[in-house]
Amino acid sequence: MSRKENYEATMKLAAISGIKAGLFKTFNYAGMARTMTQAEWMEEGKRRFGPDIMKWKFKCPSCGIVISVQEYKDAGAPEGAIGFNCIGRYKPESQATPMLSGKQPCNYTSGGLICISPLKIIFPNGKSDQFFDFAEAKV
Ligand SMILES: [Zn+2]
Repeated sequence: MSRKENYEATMKLAAISGIKAGLFKTFNYAGMARTMTQAEWMEEGKRRFGPDIMKWKFKCPSCGIVISVQEYKDAGAPEGAIGFNCIGRYKPESQATPMLSGKQPCNYTSGGLICISPLKIIFPNGKSDQFFDFAEAKV
């Protein structure tokens, strides 16, 4: 997948959403994302998956793949990528698979032009970023 094709796929998403790409993130931040503090987020992870963070699982909002923290680590992803970037960005066979292409895993990042990550996390220093939802834990 070329950079141009990747860009076109992203713009297609913007068209589907009916929102100009440049405004999407602003719109998202303005009200679509659920907000919680980092402490609340950590509590929710423990509640769902237990105290071993390696077993926590996130769901990519673009392709829907479920990724454990262990899988991020095994793929060589940095800590900052967990629940933020799709694991496809760290796998040679899928690094260029565009978001919303219907293929898993994809190259989605919460830090891109279009952010569809549903959770806004507020950090103790007052900064915030958007992250993937947790996957449902198997009970
Ligand atoms: Zn993905």
